[in-house]
Amino acid sequence: MHKVNASIITIGDELLIGQTIDTNSAFIAQEFNKTGVWVHRRVAVGDVYDDIRKALDDESVLSDIIVITGGLGPTADDITKPLLCEYFGGKMIVNEKVKAHVIHLFEKIFRRPGPMLERNLKQAEVPDVCTVLHNARGTAPGMLFRKNGKLFFSLPGVPHEMKGLIVNEVIPVIQKEFALPAIIHRTVFTAGRGESMIAELLQDFEASLPSHIKLAYLPNYGMVKLRLTSIGDLADAVNKELEPFFIRLQELVKDFMVVNDDKKLEEVVGQILRKHAKTMGTAESCTGGYIAHLITSIAGSSDYYKGSVVSYDNTVKSGVLGVNQSTLSQYGAVSEQTVTEMANGLLKTIGTDFALATSGIMGPGGGTPEKPVGTVWIAVATAVKTETLQLNLRFDRERNIHMTAAAALDFLRKFILANT
Ligand code: ATP
Repeated sequence: MHKVNASIITIGDELLIGQTIDTNSAFIAQEFNKTGVWVHRRVAVGDVYDDIRKALDDESVLSDIIVITGGLGPTADDITKPLLCEYFGGKMIVNEKVKAHVIHLFEKIFRRPGPMLERNLKQAEVPDVCTVLHNARGTAPGMLFRKNGKLFFSLPGVPHEMKGLIVNEVIPVIQKEFALPAIIHRTVFTAGRGESMIAELLQDFEASLPSHIKLAYLPNYGMVKLRLTSIGDLADAVNKELEPFFIRLQELVKDFMVVNDDKKLEEVVGQILRKHAKTMGTAESCTGGYIAHLITSIAGSSDYYKGSVVSYDNTVKSGVLGVNQSTLSQYGAVSEQTVTEMANGLLKTIGTDFALATSGIMGPGGGTPEKPVGTVWIAVATAVKTETLQLNLRFDRERNIHMTAAAALDFLRKFILANT
């Protein structure tokens, strides 16, 4: 089986100074991986003529497919297009289809004030040695060049334009040109055990895997996803061979498995609520609505998620959720008593089956000797039962918020399972 190799070259000074984070490469690598293309090199270069040429020279020796993103726009620092024209030995011509598309976008879709500029129309100029790839989402067309049996795709840097081109134009071309292997991933999602503890448990299992089946540990905010990956010529055969190993893996981690799929925790919680036709809401202090954001990022969440009270200030905890003033003054906002009243107050306020409440000190300030930064209380409740959980985190503010949200959602997941 020939491995089809790809290199990704991202272009732009802003990538090198850290102003823009290179999310394009990650997206392309993920899509290629699903397709059976092996991304084995990722290179970032500035808007520097010689550096871009050298990257093209180097990567074309190493890879069957070279994808370039960025530097295609109408501004002076975007030098990629003329460079590619020279590199592949062509001359610039106006592509009438692209021109019509650019005019259509400006006149009918963008409707920006002022006339369309000459430099916008320049987007319709492409080297005559390329195949134009239609960019439905923007004015800069994608381009496909061929040299010595290698494919070179040049795509705009704007992420959502690049994504459309990869999915709709680039991958179909690659699938037509190469016999690609099937790469199959099977994932088990676990919570509540550290990576090293799981590694101990899976030591013999890992040793028993054939060399072409790999086990990856993907830890994230106290959860660990365990991913088995296999590769072969035919998807059915790969799946069949992988199945018994996947079943064995699930058996080994069954006590702390969340789900045998590559899902987000908020998605899993939503599925359980939907299955039992139950609803939930959130009362968030320290997470400031972040849990609500996670839940509502899942399409269809309005079926089970009713809403949130971001009770950041104590006046909202008491005024909207009905937390007693005496509870706040006696135990403080970050306490088991306060989150308990927050969760129960939310049930009354918005009338859901389940409530989740958080209150904590996320840092860097606000800690005391009794309640240091990272002290968090979480409550989950139904009309008849409340459970609480304390966390003692030790990270920066952002990570503390993310850790709290993940722990709260997992706590809620278990509570719903035990109380439906
Ligand atoms: P434009 O038409 O906007 O000039 P372009 O093809 O010239 O598009 P760039 O100018 O390099 O692309 O970048 C356009 C936008 O896309 C910028 O906001 C840039 O920060 C972003 N961008 C470029 N490359 C990447 C990347 N690798 N990852 C994420 N964002 C990127």
